Amino acid sequence: MNRPAIPFLNLRAAHDPIRAELLQAIGEVIDSNAFAGGPYVAKFETEFAAFCGSSHCVASGNGTDALWLPLLALGVGPGDEVITVSHTFIASAEAISYCGAKPVFIDIDETTFTMDPAKLEAAITPRTKAIIPVHLYGQMADMDAILAIANRHGIPVIEDACQAHGATYKGRKAGTLGIAGAFSFYPGKNLGALGEAGGTTTNDPELARKMATLRDHGQRTKYFHSMVGWNARMDGIQAAALSIKLRTLAQGNQARRQHARLYSELLHCTSGVATPQVATYGNPVFHLYVIRVADRDGLLKTLGERGVHCGIHYPRPVHLQEAYAFLGYQPGSLPVTERVAREILSLPMFPELTPEQITVVVRELKALLATATPVAA
Ligand SMILES: *Cc1c(COP(=O)(O)O)cnc(C)c1O
Repeated sequence: MNRPAIPFLNLRAAHDPIRAELLQAIGEVIDSNAFAGGPYVAKFETEFAAFCGSSHCVASGNGTDALWLPLLALGVGPGDEVITVSHTFIASAEAISYCGAKPVFIDIDETTFTMDPAKLEAAITPRTKAIIPVHLYGQMADMDAILAIANRHGIPVIEDACQAHGATYKGRKAGTLGIAGAFSFYPGKNLGALGEAGGTTTNDPELARKMATLRDHGQRTKYFHSMVGWNARMDGIQAAALSIKLRTLAQGNQARRQHARLYSELLHCTSGVATPQVATYGNPVFHLYVIRVADRDGLLKTLGERGVHCGIHYPRPVHLQEAYAFLGYQPGSLPVTERVAREILSLPMFPELTPEQITVVVRELKALLATATPVAA
């Protein structure tokens, strides 16, 4: 059995065809000394805002900065609460903690893996200063339902769109429905830099200005600081690379959708496998293709041994992480989140994946499920 392994992600395949362009762009940044902030960053901000259909994008150092800046700019601080989900990457909560505020976790909808709007109202208190739904795996949360509740209470909604570049909700792109949308351009995301980068979209010019000031040491004029900010700038090389890679984002998203369709067709009616559900309200971009299976850990290991590399996003919900033990959540407090975390398996997903590779992944998966010892009833 000398079949080539199927990687979970293949960044090389994305970069090889544009390698010369990327190297030339890096050369231009070196020649113009535009390393921190500057014209390449401004150009990318304009382009990404246009892609999203948003009036502003404030580029920053990474997706965690991109979540943190709008919270800071909205004045979220000590004593405040921010509602989010626990079924996410920990950064959604860290951004809240690094404002001095307290993350409040609510459960997810079992079909979309995103914030359950039915759980939102009960979690709102007089201290709630923001709500952060997470568009996980590239599928948007049910924004109309979330915004209706948030608006009734006058609470701003910040979208964690770090996995949802180009995803839509009733025709509108991620990052344009709430007051702000946070994007990560970590290399493995649907739009990835050649290192760390992030950006926050908003249609609110005052919020954009405040975020831009905060990310640059609170200065609007060099060395004159109107507020205590931070260094959360994007670097010029990342911006120049992102401008090039943005041109292929829509096409990459389309390829991911096709791969997802093929996976779901091939896995249709496979006993023991639940395939991802696409909500009727939107068009996801499949940052990840996540199935649910009973013996998840066993399958992950055996598939890996057979050269099919999968992942888990994420194995332990944030409310049960050691880092957040001080919040006092007990196992059982978010039942859907906890059940899902035990069963999710992310199959290989990247635009350059081939139908043949998908067929092999599914064949291996089905073979293992057929030989698995049935769980005693
Ligand atoms: C990647 C990611 C982040 C953080 O982005 P970084 O660029 O790694 O800081 C935040 N939230 C979600 C849902 C993510 O997937």
